[in-house]
Amino acid sequence: MSLIRFLGAAAGCLYRERRLSRARMVEVQRARLAALLAHAKATTPIWSERIEDPDPSKLDRIAPITKTELMARFDDTIANRALTLEQARAFTEEPANVGKLYDGRFVIATTSGTTGRVGFFVTDRDAWARLNGGLLARILRHRLVPHEIIRFCWGRRYRMAMTIATGGHYITQLVSTFQPLLARAFMTMSAFSVTSPLEQTVAKLNRYRPHYLHSYPTYVEVLAQAQLAGDLAIDPEFVSLGSEPVSQLARETIRSAFPNAEVSETYGATECLTIGNQCKHKNLHLNDDLCVLEPVDAEGRPVPVGTPSAKVYVTNLENYGQPLIRYVLEDSVTVLEGDCACGAAFPMIRVEGRSDDTFYLEDDGGAFRAFPPVPFEVLFLNLRGLLQYQLVHEAQNRLSIRYVVDPEADASALNAELSRRFTTYFADNHVTRIDLDVAPVDALERQARGHKLRQVYSKVPRPAV
Ligand SMILES: [Zn+2]
Repeated sequence: MSLIRFLGAAAGCLYRERRLSRARMVEVQRARLAALLAHAKATTPIWSERIEDPDPSKLDRIAPITKTELMARFDDTIANRALTLEQARAFTEEPANVGKLYDGRFVIATTSGTTGRVGFFVTDRDAWARLNGGLLARILRHRLVPHEIIRFCWGRRYRMAMTIATGGHYITQLVSTFQPLLARAFMTMSAFSVTSPLEQTVAKLNRYRPHYLHSYPTYVEVLAQAQLAGDLAIDPEFVSLGSEPVSQLARETIRSAFPNAEVSETYGATECLTIGNQCKHKNLHLNDDLCVLEPVDAEGRPVPVGTPSAKVYVTNLENYGQPLIRYVLEDSVTVLEGDCACGAAFPMIRVEGRSDDTFYLEDDGGAFRAFPPVPFEVLFLNLRGLLQYQLVHEAQNRLSIRYVVDPEADASALNAELSRRFTTYFADNHVTRIDLDVAPVDALERQARGHKLRQVYSKVPRPAV
């Protein structure tokens, strides 16, 4: 059944993109929104309270919801209250459950996301199959044509490498475990851990020789540097980047390291897997058949086309297990004027999301090593009692870790566990001369300008390499 939903969703995405006019797409979005609002109001306590009228034209009357509010009332956010926070927590604390459905019905993903606050997000089984189908169709969009598919399947096994945070219930790891039977006939998908020492991952990728490489832009940038230095020697034909914004420098480094690869950027979140994808003209298109995205200013007023937003409200049109309506993401999105030459009936957008820093630390041999931010974020996950965190590179090889702890939790055990994880991680990566200052705080430091919390950032300039 999940295969049918997966393929059906992929086909639907391709059809709408290639055949529908803009006016027709707006109708499709409206009909899907009407169905979601009616379902949410009828089944989900928090939405029964908040949705007065499920008329899609009155979406802006529904109060936006933050992750903090959602987590505070988690049980009320699940349709028919079919899952509790305690059940979700217990399920995700068990590593053997990665890739499994809770009760045969739900996918549960954990994230710290843009706020540094740990959250649990639940997708029902059918929506998960559809979202994965949509993701595939939108990443590979113009390649899903007969002659490309024949080339893809003919005489080889297509090797896909997901170089991601593994070993936990992280969204990309969960996507990598979603492999309908049919797909296994002609492709192999392997996950490589971003928290393993870089040399190990480079050696494994050299043996695997992926056709397709997916990872976080900051991590692919480090792989690209390894390729340019001659340590990594792979020749992917497709590089997909997700979960983080892509800097201009990263884009250029990746292009020069992997000249034969088509590089495709994805905009998504644990809460909404496929918000936007690039087309062959390198424009990022909003998937507004799969979600409703409202770019707003700091006070929540809609911003006009061409103006960068302070944040966005996203409504996931696929997920009925935990309906997310006007969910606040702290990304700045600009809807761009004009049409794209690819002909897709989707608006073009530009995203400036969370930008965490890569740290350059001096290793035991005196050389600088790049440490991209995602592996650090993984070290903060699955710690009971940890509410928020921040990691700062204060001065060369001097780091501070600040975190907010649940008053009920054992802060000294948490402190010891954080110190242990970071010391081990750095030692595995040949950095033993490091000064780590780990301490709980009442509230995290915010940047003087803007309201965003930077979770992983460096006060040390990037060394000349
Ligand atoms: Zn386009």
